[in-house]
Amino acid sequence: MMNSPHISFEFFAAKTAEGRQKLNNTCRELDKFSPEFYSVTYGAGGSTRDTTKDIILDIKANGYEAAPHLSVGGDSTEDVIALVQAYKDAGINKLVALRGDLPSGIGGTKQLVHANELVAMIREHTGDHFEINVAAYPEIHPEAQSYSKDIFWLGEKFKAGADRAITQYFYNPDAYFRFIEQCAKAGIDQPIIPGIMPLTNYHNLVRFSDNCGADIPRWLRWQLKERSDNPEDLVKYGLDVVTKLCEDLLAGGAPGLHFYTMNQWQISDTLCRNLGLAIKT
Ligand code: FAD
Repeated sequence: MMNSPHISFEFFAAKTAEGRQKLNNTCRELDKFSPEFYSVTYGAGGSTRDTTKDIILDIKANGYEAAPHLSVGGDSTEDVIALVQAYKDAGINKLVALRGDLPSGIGGTKQLVHANELVAMIREHTGDHFEINVAAYPEIHPEAQSYSKDIFWLGEKFKAGADRAITQYFYNPDAYFRFIEQCAKAGIDQPIIPGIMPLTNYHNLVRFSDNCGADIPRWLRWQLKERSDNPEDLVKYGLDVVTKLCEDLLAGGAPGLHFYTMNQWQISDTLCRNLGLAIKT
């Protein structure tokens, strides 16, 4: 049995009663792996502000650690501080602080607040209360000015008070290890946890990856495309690929794994079992 790496699971903010029910079940099922937290995304432009908060408070009330994402985009400082304070009052002590993106159609006057400024704002108003996670991009953020500038801004998030980073997903472990090497050279020694996206749907993955700048290696793209009409085969193949990716990452010294669950427990459960992660009895 493997030592216990940091494990966390990410959900999106389900809006329907059925989706919320499914999420409760997913929390119950994945609890056996003793995750450090369940995180819940925040829709671009504040579109899920109340839903994210409700789900976070539910997760907490059910006895699990919950970490809300704050991709506050163009929200006012007062709104952000009020939300952070409400989380603090509710006993939440972990956050994922992000700049976010503005949803299409909202343009013009709205000004996005960079994540380092958000982290500084949270520290100014709530001191050391929160453990703050931020985003990192081993394959570099699509808007970055350059590879080294993106690492520079990650460093600024840590200087502002972030405790650790979670990465965008990737399928090439070398991208992660080289990124860690460059971060170390830039003086970043905080944990950078790989974000793991299971492979379950070819078309969604291609669309999403094109948007967020995640690379699907050519060989993998072809293998998934060939299975795109056979979901069972694609999932089976995807589990092999992602299990190997996780094994390589942990063997190479990654401090843990953050799973993008898409609110399903089965695939993350299989991955964790494949990796021999400890199961609570
Ligand atoms: P920043 O760190 O602000 O970086 C954005 C870009 O600006 C980068 O190119 C960077 O190099 C540059 N930059 C950074 N700081 C500065 C500065 N001070 N001045 C000038 N340039 C700067 N999106 C959502 O909408 N909701 C979510 O819940 C969500 N969760 C996520 C979770 C994880 C783990 C990750 C990796 C991403 C998530 N995202 C989410 C996506 C994220 O919001 C987008 O990638 C967004 O475009 C950037 O957010 P950031 O916090 O990395 O921004």
